[in-house]
Amino acid sequence: MNEFSSCLKCGSQFPDPAARFCSLCGGRTLSSPKARRMGWLSLAAGILLVGTMTFIGLWLRFSDSTWEGTREFAAYGITLGAFMVAFGLVAAAAGIWQIRKGTRNKMLTYTTIALAVVMGAMMAGQYLIYGN
Ligand SMILES: [Zn+2]
Repeated sequence: MNEFSSCLKCGSQFPDPAARFCSLCGGRTLSSPKARRMGWLSLAAGILLVGTMTFIGLWLRFSDSTWEGTREFAAYGITLGAFMVAFGLVAAAAGIWQIRKGTRNKMLTYTTIALAVVMGAMMAGQYLIYGN
């Protein structure tokens, strides 16, 4: 596979994977081997997360346990779970993109960050309101 580096700022690509800075805008670059390694991590984390949430969902669906918490907390758990699945899917998609292209997909990267921020805010809000 042809290795190269790409600018994280402007997206320009250079044939030298060892280039550390973009010669056009001076931004930091990402080498394609590193992008692919990170891609595998992102893909593995995404699959793990979606798998875990699917397992929890199925377990809750088919176990005999009855819900004893509040309706608000159940709604929170379901919403957070849905966000986690979405996060896992986007992280896996971003990972596949990086493995195949050797560079980052800005939109997927930003979507992943945005979802992480929303989940963080939800968890922080829950903690502040209910203290758990
Ligand atoms: Zn650049």
